Amino acid sequence: MKKIEYKNLNTTEKKLLSTAQDAALLSISKDGHKVGAALIDENNKVHSGTTIGRTRIVGSVCAEQMALDNMLYMGNKIQKKIVIIGKLNEYKENMICPPCGRCREMFAEILQETGIYDITFIISSWNKKNIIKTSIKELLPLAFSIKKDRNYEDSGNKK
Ligand SMILES: [Zn+2]
Repeated sequence: MKKIEYKNLNTTEKKLLSTAQDAALLSISKDGHKVGAALIDENNKVHSGTTIGRTRIVGSVCAEQMALDNMLYMGNKIQKKIVIIGKLNEYKENMICPPCGRCREMFAEILQETGIYDITFIISSWNKKNIIKTSIKELLPLAFSIKKDRNYEDSGNKK
């Protein structure tokens, strides 16, 4: 996990971040949370999602989930990179909004199914002054897996 500056993002990453922020502005949330996600698939197609907040997190849809489901709906399976930007009511504009536990599990599961086992996450504060680059391996070490050849040294996401 490393902190990076906006100016050091490449053109694709800046485009993803802009798409995610546009999606975040469409969030539906009773408490004012705005979270957007944009991911790029193996064909370099961008899929985005926003947060739909309901009474509890279980009934809500996360931006990451919507972006992933949009990609799956379009018939793609391999995600290369996802950008998440958020502005939560209780957060300041320079705080990042990392993916929730459910989203981490969701990405780990589909990555295992596709045999990719990792994806880059770029998580940005609303003002883009606090950006981290990480991976599902770092976000969810020792992820659940039904693979028979798993062992402790796998750290959750390798074959
Ligand atoms: Zn989530």
